Amino acid sequence: MAHVQEFYRTFALYAPRSVLRCRPSVTFSVGRHASGLSNKRRHPKGFQPPTSNDLEELRERTIEFVRREIPQEVAQATDHNNEFPNEMWQKLGAAGFLGVTADEEYGGLSMGYQAHCIVMEELSRASGSIALSYAAHSQLCVNQFQLHGTDEQKAQYLPGLTSGEKIGALAMSEHSAGSDVVNMKMTAKATDGGYLLNGTKMWITNGPDAHVIVVYAKTEPAAGKDGITAFIVDTSSSGFSVARKLDKLGMRGSNTGELMFDNVFVPSEKILGPVNRGVKVLMEGLDLERLVLSAGPLGLMQAALDVTLPYVHERKQFGIPLAHNQLIQAKLADMYTKYRASAAFTYSVARAIDESHEDPQIKTQDCAGAILFAAERATECGMDAIQCLGGMGYMNEMAAGRIMRDAKLYEIGAGTSEVRRFVIGRVFNREYGR
Ligand SMILES: Cc1cc2nc3c(=O)[nH]c(=O)nc-3n(C[C@H](O)[C@H](O)[C@H](O)COP(=O)(O)OP(=O)(O)OC[C@H]3O[C@@H](n4cnc5c(N)ncnc54)[C@H](O)[C@@H]3O)c2cc1C
Repeated sequence: MAHVQEFYRTFALYAPRSVLRCRPSVTFSVGRHASGLSNKRRHPKGFQPPTSNDLEELRERTIEFVRREIPQEVAQATDHNNEFPNEMWQKLGAAGFLGVTADEEYGGLSMGYQAHCIVMEELSRASGSIALSYAAHSQLCVNQFQLHGTDEQKAQYLPGLTSGEKIGALAMSEHSAGSDVVNMKMTAKATDGGYLLNGTKMWITNGPDAHVIVVYAKTEPAAGKDGITAFIVDTSSSGFSVARKLDKLGMRGSNTGELMFDNVFVPSEKILGPVNRGVKVLMEGLDLERLVLSAGPLGLMQAALDVTLPYVHERKQFGIPLAHNQLIQAKLADMYTKYRASAAFTYSVARAIDESHEDPQIKTQDCAGAILFAAERATECGMDAIQCLGGMGYMNEMAAGRIMRDAKLYEIGAGTSEVRRFVIGRVFNREYGR
């Protein structure tokens, strides 16, 4: 055990840093309040876009990690048992993966969004559900702290979150407010020194396990979307509870919960971003969330190829390998092309954001487009993998069914395919409409 811990310490100290080029050290003046809304920076101060060598090295390190820590048995057991392997958090933290976009000062790698997509893709290739929980933590929670947290909030929360000691989540959706999320009912009523939160949140990834959750609530219900505020909620707070852990079609083992808030007191210093400007915090977070999550389907498409290619070359019917039939070749060619086209889209958007870091060019239509395209292609690849494997594709001992079930989530979570289409449509309406 000791030598394992030593290995992780060494790995954490040297390996992730070795993929970083020398960057200016990051310092903050005491008491600086970083409101993400007035500050256009979307990367840590002193951020330099990684080189292609940095990114290749990071990918190799992630692949090594996955080989060691998430072999097929771990992925299958996570799915079958519908339980997240909790020891994974500290392993991910020790490898440096939990704060890819966060300041080095708080335990992050400060490597940007291309790097985050790479880690997300390779984790998803091994296990869609472990990767989904990873992204809920590292993107939906950690990156929201990075973008909108004050120095004090970052100093209090990021070290525990980036090390894997604490688990993070983000809660916006409710039973009656999914696609129409700004119609949320949860209230936050001002009281002495803070706010009292009341209501429920639904389908929250990591909700059953989280120590800290970014929660959106109505501070001024009558003001509609202009009355929403983001709060940092410690789940040890009195009045917080997990109503139930949900049973899902796919992404099993990425624990999803329904959460209850009964007069949960949140002190004023735990407001994330400005009061009543939560919708901006939410929407800006959603753009980058869609971008990083689009790497999930990329990994699942690779996984679909991983399971299909050897099988169709090995198995013979009518005296020849399945892969020598043109109907099977057509499926393989389509799967491969869908993966490559989706990857090109995702990484070009991530690269544009990293490279424009001084005045970030985050295009809503590109972030929504990347996940819209990749998610639908990944479900198709999952279905094709099942078909290519025939009867074995339908058996749970093979990964094909799990890949397809996991992929379908990406057409629903972080805004459905329909919502992504109208988000893109509205950008054009704004640009071309009168
Ligand atoms: C596994 C999982 C994990 C999740 N994790 C989180 C999380 O961590 N945090 C969080 O806050 N939320 C989370 N969600 C919630 C997710 O974001 C919502 O489920 C999603 O936004 C869709 O909302 P809904 O389920 O209410 O569907 P609905 O809004 O009821 O939509 C149902 C269908 O109607 C379509 N539809 C709705 N409105 C329109 C329209 N105007 N035009 C055309 N079609 C429309 C939708 O596209 C969809 O096909 C998660 C969900 C799942 C399944």
